[in-house]
Amino acid sequence: MAGAQSTNPEKVYAFLKTQESRGYCDDCIEKRTGVDRHEVNTIASTLALFPREFTRSPQTCPQGCSSRVKLVTASKWPLRAIRPQAASELQCLY
Ligand SMILES: [Zn+2]
Repeated sequence: MAGAQSTNPEKVYAFLKTQESRGYCDDCIEKRTGVDRHEVNTIASTLALFPREFTRSPQTCPQGCSSRVKLVTASKWPLRAIRPQAASELQCLY
């Protein structure tokens, strides 16, 4: 892909936007974008401020990377139901 270099937030944003049907935990986003996990956390938390575009909620990672519940970020077209309480849970965790 020739083109201008993207910033890390752009990489994460573009990655999630092209993965419409699934969510990814921060670890999986790091693996797939090469962006440092801590930075992914910051970026994904920021994306979650735009609930019309992204969801970020505690659940087991759809990628099956772990059985633990993690914060999973997805662009807003996944078919899974969006739990209305996710936002308040997030505020507790963040
Ligand atoms: Zn994962």
